[in-house]
Amino acid sequence: MANLILILGDQLTPDLSAFEGADRRYDTIVMAEVHEEASYTKHHKKKLVLLFSAMRHFAQQLEHDGWQVQYQRYHPDNEQQSLEAVVTRLRAELQPEKIITTECGEWRLHNRISQWQGRLGLPVEIRSDTRFIASKQEFARWAEGRKQLRMEHFYREMRRKTGLLMTPDGKPEGGSWNFDADNRRKWSGKPPAPAPFRTEPDAITREVTELVEQHFPDHFGTTEDFHFAVTPEDAQEALDYFIEFALPCFGDYQDAISDTEDWLFHSILSPYINCGLLDPLAVCEAAARAWDAGQAPINAVEGFIRQILGWREFVRGIYWLHMPGYARENRLDNTRALPWFYWTGETKMRCMHKAIDATRRNAYAHHIQRLMVTGNFALLAGIKPEEICDWYLAVYADAYDWVELPNVLGMVMHADGGYLGSKPYASSGKYIHRMSDHCVNCHYKVSKSTEPDACPFNSLYWHFIDRHRDDFESNPRMGMMYRNWDKQKPERREALLTRANYLLKRLEEL
Ligand code: FAD
Ligand code: SF4
Repeated sequence: MANLILILGDQLTPDLSAFEGADRRYDTIVMAEVHEEASYTKHHKKKLVLLFSAMRHFAQQLEHDGWQVQYQRYHPDNEQQSLEAVVTRLRAELQPEKIITTECGEWRLHNRISQWQGRLGLPVEIRSDTRFIASKQEFARWAEGRKQLRMEHFYREMRRKTGLLMTPDGKPEGGSWNFDADNRRKWSGKPPAPAPFRTEPDAITREVTELVEQHFPDHFGTTEDFHFAVTPEDAQEALDYFIEFALPCFGDYQDAISDTEDWLFHSILSPYINCGLLDPLAVCEAAARAWDAGQAPINAVEGFIRQILGWREFVRGIYWLHMPGYARENRLDNTRALPWFYWTGETKMRCMHKAIDATRRNAYAHHIQRLMVTGNFALLAGIKPEEICDWYLAVYADAYDWVELPNVLGMVMHADGGYLGSKPYASSGKYIHRMSDHCVNCHYKVSKSTEPDACPFNSLYWHFIDRHRDDFESNPRMGMMYRNWDKQKPERREALLTRANYLLKRLEEL
């Protein structure tokens, strides 16, 4: 019995469910770099290099291990420009009994593959993606009947399920489930942040870099200084490096932003976890071992594990619970277009310039830059969710619809009515000032709100509060903001709204 086993670009995992029971003698592995997947958004050039190179290395390893692999390299003139076209060709050539694949991460492609059986006239077996700690069904069962879905509650379930950071008598290690309150320190240069882990590009990576430069010149970002891992071994080294050099300070400076350091104490592992080079549970276990061994404090280890075991699993659950309607949500009725400076970084707002410029160079910005700088600005300015979602999907090496969409549409834009946060993460320039050293270098003055050189975040914040009174006034976590707003003198409120309206008409000039 010969089967076609389709492996997607974010399924580069040797024990993927699609391989279960496969026979190297008869079955054929299919992998393809196709135009449709490479260009449904203008993926950052570094993301394309990462995925094409990691796919080629993975295919090479499979062949080395004795598998028959049909691998289509990218070329714009390839006759088959979609996965369906590639599979259709191989069906005719190899006459397989069936196609086996692991469910894909995003709804768009999942929906297509689900129709192949009818379209190709061949059985298509879609297996669960066991790389997630909670299956879709498990999440749906957990969510059923709950009035509110809160990450923290789900996270505790996952801690109990995996035993991660749990004492033998079932209590959370360190005496608390969550050490977030300890994780809000500003970073002022000390302790020094470790340099990011680097893998030097090999011949395969250099070849795909040329390919990307030649065929995707108008995609966002640059391929310069590509140093991502592209094999499981190198990704494992990146994990070991993080545990040794950055994890001990991860918690303390988790929310910090720096004018000079792009990476701080973050792990930079999401590109590898999301494409299958690292297993999320194994990453959490490695961090838990560091706590056991006294190599890292509990606030760091718990904070890190919560991101993966809690947030990553939670957003995936929300995505599959609510797609496809989720992508169309716009509960705050935003209508503004995304300012062009999101693509160029050319803005006088120092925090925005720095976050976008790092994104352009690295295909990376850390969580607080995504949430409290570029995200916060989009929320305050009332940008259309679909435009800001498209931006986030295009610009990061770790971006996939299932994780990007809930984070942007839900966590940042509050466009889903609040599955990911009980209140929007809206904030004035004060927050950025408190957590970063950007403001001292900025054209705008964070201490001012209504003057011509006032920080735009300040008046836009109050405009947001004012225009969404009906949406948030009765929210217990927002009541204080409305009381503060109402307490201000009418002239002051008027001046803030006038300044914000002026800015909203000139977003492109900020
Ligand atoms: P660390 O700070 O070291 O965190 C450790 C790991 O936790 C990450 O590698 C990631 O796997 C996981 N994680 C942390 N926060 C989240 C989260 N909110 N959702 C899911 N996983 C999380 N993450 C993506 O993987 N892809 C995206 O497209 C993406 N888009 C985002 C968009 C916005 C607006 C925001 C606010 C967050 C987004 N995130 C996304 C989540 C998070 O910002 C990134 O996972 C993180 O910055 C990756 O860098 P890191 O590996 O250094 O993370
Ligand atoms: Fe950003 Fe405002 Fe600070 Fe400038 S002053 S860096 S715009 S928060």
